[in-house]
Amino acid sequence: MPEIFINGQAIQARDDQTVLQVALANGIFVPYFCWHPQLSIAGNCRMCLVEVEGRGLDIACNMPVNAGMKVFTDSDDVKAHRKAILQFITLNHPVDCGICDKAGECTLQDYHYQYNGEASLSRDEKVHSTKFYNLSNRILLDNERCILCLRCTRFTHEVSKSMALGVERRGDVSNIRPVEDRPLGEDPYSDNIIDLCPVGALLSRQFLHKARVWYLKPTPSVCPGCERGCTIQIWHRKPEWKLKALDPAQNTSIARITPLENPAVNGPWICNKGRDLARIFERRRADQAMLKGQPVELSVAIDHARRLIGAARHPAALVSTWGSNEELETFKARLGEVFHCFVKRDGQPEEGERIEDDLLIRADKNPNTAKARELFHDSGEPTFHDGTDLVLVWGEGFDFAKLPRGAQVIFLNSYLQPENGHADVFLPISIQTERSGHYTNFQGTVSAFEACFAKNDTVVDAEALFVALAAPARGHP
Ligand code: SF4
Ligand code: SF4
Repeated sequence: MPEIFINGQAIQARDDQTVLQVALANGIFVPYFCWHPQLSIAGNCRMCLVEVEGRGLDIACNMPVNAGMKVFTDSDDVKAHRKAILQFITLNHPVDCGICDKAGECTLQDYHYQYNGEASLSRDEKVHSTKFYNLSNRILLDNERCILCLRCTRFTHEVSKSMALGVERRGDVSNIRPVEDRPLGEDPYSDNIIDLCPVGALLSRQFLHKARVWYLKPTPSVCPGCERGCTIQIWHRKPEWKLKALDPAQNTSIARITPLENPAVNGPWICNKGRDLARIFERRRADQAMLKGQPVELSVAIDHARRLIGAARHPAALVSTWGSNEELETFKARLGEVFHCFVKRDGQPEEGERIEDDLLIRADKNPNTAKARELFHDSGEPTFHDGTDLVLVWGEGFDFAKLPRGAQVIFLNSYLQPENGHADVFLPISIQTERSGHYTNFQGTVSAFEACFAKNDTVVDAEALFVALAAPARGHP
């Protein structure tokens, strides 16, 4: 292990590390735009210049370690060159911060204040370029804000492999452009370039001008879109910035979803389906308990369900693969002996969705099949006993036409669906964004999710419901 010195501090490095990697791994920050740990080295932004004794200035991202080398990350020469680079980058960069979605999390903004802080030296008109160029139905490109770090092009070449982006022309008229016949709209990982872009050049259409990021807070969660179970952050309005007028619905809605880096599961990436979870979670909710389609108090419906369970001779249950570990374990502990249980796949691939690939996306579109299979009998399609007289259906994805003739039905669901009214007992349950828990992914990795919003009082958490259903019945149905 070569020993190197950074700002006089002796550090044991690995032979395969660059000076930038050694510095960052040891808590010495060196600014950079184009470098990214998951992408190849481009070395084009020049922000990570450091000084090496006897060698002068060079970029740290592409500098192998050599035993005994003495590196300075904050010498006067380094500071002067960093400032000059920022002056160069901002020559043509517009001062859009007041309307730019990246403001508040923009690396250029941060570095400008930290390492430059002065007005532009140029008195010439800035070079203008395309604003709001339509890269795909999900992403807009502002070429004036682009600093040509090429993170986006490298991502499409090296990670998603869609090869959808390239650079056209040279010099101060260079532009990122889509590659002909390689539509970015068909890249299911395309939105990662929005996070990768160090400035506000790549904009999510979904999030465009929707909120300033400092009004939002992220809650750690897990994407239920497939059995990978990518860790994510669900961004929503901070309570202290709650809207009282305008559109109060924004206080309880998802503003955006970004990856939460997790080397054990998804690295720093997620697919676009994970970004679109509002489409799933913000469907019209079912919040009214019912008996044969007639509204009743939640407690009345629970009581009725409990009595049906107590009276059934051959009850069966379809357990949800969207249930958390805690809910599945509670069901198993409290009701597992009562019901003949089958594992139900709640989620199925949607039309046009990528089914599977070798990056993240898995064919099973449910987050917790692994835990459900560990706890319950999984024979694929449920085969009901001839005398099955009660079926508890937990969650979506089951065709009610396949229910055994004459069986009574207890249905637990969160969204408005025609089947809700057909059940003998309908019980509205909370969704993932209203409770905390864990999922186990197909590799056996357990990931936690936390509540973002409060649930409605007329809706019950499945875990509490299973405890209530297992309590002794008070009478006969
Ligand atoms: S659009 Fe963003 S990520 Fe792409 S080259 Fe420009 S600055 Fe870099
Ligand atoms: S790969 Fe699967 S778990 Fe990950 S973001 Fe996409 S749908 Fe969600």
